[in-house]
Amino acid sequence: MIPYARQSIDQSDIDAVIEVLQSDFLTQGPQVPLFEEALCKHSNSRFSLALNSGTSALHLACLALSVGPGDTLWTSPITYVASANCAFYCGADVDFVDIDPISFNISVVELRKKLRIARKNHSLPKVLVAVHMAGNPCVMQEIKILSDEFGFKIIEDASHALGGVYKNEPIGSCRYSDITVYSFHPVKIITTAEGGAALTNDSDLYQDMALRRSHGITRDESLMHGEKHGPWHYQQIELGYNYRMTEIQAALGISQLKRLSEFMRSRAHIVKRYSELLKGLPLRLPEPLEGSSSAWHLYIVRLMKNESKLSHLQLFHALHEQGVIVNLHYMPIYLQPYFNSRLKTPIDCPEADSYYSEAISLPMFASMTDQEVETVAEVLHKILRV
Ligand SMILES: *Cc1c(COP(=O)(O)O)cnc(C)c1O
Repeated sequence: MIPYARQSIDQSDIDAVIEVLQSDFLTQGPQVPLFEEALCKHSNSRFSLALNSGTSALHLACLALSVGPGDTLWTSPITYVASANCAFYCGADVDFVDIDPISFNISVVELRKKLRIARKNHSLPKVLVAVHMAGNPCVMQEIKILSDEFGFKIIEDASHALGGVYKNEPIGSCRYSDITVYSFHPVKIITTAEGGAALTNDSDLYQDMALRRSHGITRDESLMHGEKHGPWHYQQIELGYNYRMTEIQAALGISQLKRLSEFMRSRAHIVKRYSELLKGLPLRLPEPLEGSSSAWHLYIVRLMKNESKLSHLQLFHALHEQGVIVNLHYMPIYLQPYFNSRLKTPIDCPEADSYYSEAISLPMFASMTDQEVETVAEVLHKILRV
């Protein structure tokens, strides 16, 4: 059986975790700041906060940008539900911008159209969550121009895109956004089991997220109300959470981040093999975008239904029967029952609907062997050959 994704853990990762288990600190020790330093170094961002999940990072990002009741967050419908749920956590609403059919990212043409209408209706978004779908960078420079014109903030959801590059800068640099979020779930590019991070170049946003990561509590005398009573004294000055990452996770993260270029090389190699081996099938293969390089979290093909003897659903069943565990990222999230009940405006995303009827995520992970890639291609040829 070939899964659609799996983590890659080697002896150096295992050793790093064991070392922490034998040390004095399992949480709130030296590893988390070291991991944060490594993330800043990788991404060229000024600040980074390691957190217990990508979802927590999205929540803190929304709070730091003052998302609240009466506000609306816009995002792509083709993403994981967490990209939008962060708005609901803050009492805000969600609306969707249709995707571009080639990149599967938010369409800038649709975004511009929707913003013009929203300005007339006084319903502009507070925040846009730009999702780098499958690891493919969004056209951030164009989105940033729109954010300046229409006055919304930008969160990059880079859960898929650690290792991706946009205009010669790593995804995570926050050059065109307020905050960037990574996820380190085992299916993602690097893993800390559960885990995530928020990156920013803005020290106020950083301080706000840092405070809320740990209950809104501070020991910094300059932030305290009145005099410090003694060395034991801390104050809660905000409502916060426990969104901390453990030392065990941070050590694993440091070790995994050292392997990032190895992961990027093997993912790029798999993409090259797939594009050679899948020629001639009724599948539209992903296209590399100009001026950026994808982290290749997912390898998504689209079934050309008119040229295929199997339907989309039949193809999933046939591949699973042959042990090729393909997946679909994602059902448009406005079709989720919970969203259906919370959305305030009618949804008009024909490209997302058509994507959902054609998309297939083929197996893709750093430790995938040439043999496994060839098996996936052979099975596809066998099933789809006319
Ligand atoms: C995985 C993922 C998240 C959430 O990350 P967790 O670390 O699992 O909380 C958010 N957005 C996208 C696009 C994701 O793929």
